[in-house]
Amino acid sequence: MAALPAIGRAAVLTAPGRRFELRELPVPDPEPDAMVVRVLATTICGSDLHVYDGSTPSALPSVLGHEICGGIVAFGDGPRLDSFGTPIAEGDRIIWTQGYCGHCHECSVLKEPVLCANRRTAMQDPDAFPYVSGGFSEYCYVWPTAERIRVPDDVPDTWAAIASCAGRTVTRAHRSLGQFDPSQTVVIQGTGPIGLLACAFYSLLGPRRLIVIGAPKERLRLASEWGADAVIDITVEAAPDRAEHVRELTGGRGADVVFEMSGGRTAFAEGVDLVAPGGRYIVIGQVFPSQQAIDASLITRRQLKITGSVSAEGVDQLRAISFLARNRDRFDWNALLSPPRGFAGVDEAVRAMAELREIKPVFIPG
Ligand SMILES: [Zn+2]
Ligand SMILES: [Zn+2]
Repeated sequence: MAALPAIGRAAVLTAPGRRFELRELPVPDPEPDAMVVRVLATTICGSDLHVYDGSTPSALPSVLGHEICGGIVAFGDGPRLDSFGTPIAEGDRIIWTQGYCGHCHECSVLKEPVLCANRRTAMQDPDAFPYVSGGFSEYCYVWPTAERIRVPDDVPDTWAAIASCAGRTVTRAHRSLGQFDPSQTVVIQGTGPIGLLACAFYSLLGPRRLIVIGAPKERLRLASEWGADAVIDITVEAAPDRAEHVRELTGGRGADVVFEMSGGRTAFAEGVDLVAPGGRYIVIGQVFPSQQAIDASLITRRQLKITGSVSAEGVDQLRAISFLARNRDRFDWNALLSPPRGFAGVDEAVRAMAELREIKPVFIPG
């Protein structure tokens, strides 16, 4: 196993929209229970774009990228096990979560570590320890309290990276939904990676109707291949027509379950009105500040249940890896992915995703 190098290259974002700066950053010795990994593949997430364009206020400079599959290069003192008891050794591949403090109100009383008041995320200040905390980097730090999962040998690096954020967001959204049965109709707003993965996921659960709303056309075609009964193109149908269309497809009721997975600036207001009486709305894509006018009486009169779902835990990553691995013959996961780019291609990778030319750009350091 290669020794831990003193420095590693990383693409640093210094201001919204600016070109990434290639810097050499210190690679730290891991604290107890922490690890350093070599980045094998980073896939770009919609929330990276929101940091890149400034729509999610974030501290900069930082190293973007948090959907990462890494190969373990160094361990801090502590047990060499993943969070589910599987032994891990140098060279093994892992994905991981943010670090949680375990003692704040959210961690200890609510048992919701995704809300941890002191969480240690990717994309920290590259001038402060542990320097390498994001995915557009040769090396990355795994926080001591981060959950970590050994990637099975038959799962490619890129799929593991997808499972680490987009995939786990879907399995966590399903957990947030709770009870689900095949008598129910499902609407998914959004044909980004999360919407498409959710389409695949729910198609396997056999809902009465599975409707996907999004664009562009190739993604709607993929949604149809991946089990959507009906797709609605937002570039063809205006919002009132889309609502009417959903009602037509659901016997006039609206959908029992609606997922907001688009991050659209009017998607929430639109989605509330797509939910059937007694139905549920799981809101995932609204990660940036946004004011949207809704008819609040819909919530009361229809007795809607509206639930937010943010990030996810190790168990959700475990489920996401299993889902991708187990259903590889049914779904061509590689259809989400672009050919990998190295440091020289990071700017283009982010732009290609922002302009909807690519679904899931891939970065591999080099
Ligand atoms: Zn993400
Ligand atoms: Zn906490």
